[in-house]
Amino acid sequence: MTLCYIVAMRAEAQPFIEEYGLELKENFFAPLPCMLYEGEVNGSRLCVVLNGAQHNSDLVGCEAASVATVKAIEAIRPDLIINSGTCGAFQSQGAEIAKVYIGNGAMFHDRRVPGDDAWATQSVGNYDVWQGSRQLAKALGMPMAKVTTGSSLDMQAIDLEIINRHGGQLKDMEGAAVAFVCSLYQVPVLFVKSVTDLCDHSADTFETFSRNLHAASQALRNANKRIIEHLTLHA
Ligand code: SAH
Repeated sequence: MTLCYIVAMRAEAQPFIEEYGLELKENFFAPLPCMLYEGEVNGSRLCVVLNGAQHNSDLVGCEAASVATVKAIEAIRPDLIINSGTCGAFQSQGAEIAKVYIGNGAMFHDRRVPGDDAWATQSVGNYDVWQGSRQLAKALGMPMAKVTTGSSLDMQAIDLEIINRHGGQLKDMEGAAVAFVCSLYQVPVLFVKSVTDLCDHSADTFETFSRNLHAASQALRNANKRIIEHLTLHA
């Protein structure tokens, strides 16, 4: 079995790259900035693809995630794509800093295309996740929630309205883009998201995000370790 992670920020991926001693495959995606780290766990191939960097910072957002996912699927042919990263979530729904969730769906909240139902359906996306996600969450005792993706770290009133209308819960900047590409290739996608900030509580999202990034990334590593063990031992 081949598992392939798609991760936006190095800080989010580094703890489990180190945990498994994954090796950088130099220039694997050249000339693109995406980076491949690879190793073996319990007889399965474990790949971690980082979006890479530009302008001296990690590439976050939908465009970079889409490019990385296309290239990863074409070059690695994974059995499962896993999008792991941080997110904002809602305290009113029981979210806490560094709590880790498994995704049960993915939508976009900032693509407003007026018109008929077909355009609205396409823009929100509402992509399915890997059908084993629920069983995995149950086996590991992890909560599930719906990933909601947009191109900004902040949240405008119209974003919240769409999030509420479609039941979005885990606000990130990549998830639905990864799910979109996976839907085109018919490759299953699993989401693992750790909370860095509370959308209905944090005064300054960026400051809160930065303060909690380390703890959320440690929690991600711990969750991913359990997930990788489970998937590779039950393959
Ligand atoms: N300048 C920052 C960029 C962080 S962008 C830095 O380099 O430190 C935020 C990243 O974390 C994105 O990859 C996104 O998926 C995730 N994220 C965490 N909290 C979020 C929130 N409240 N809204 C949107 N994305 C969030």
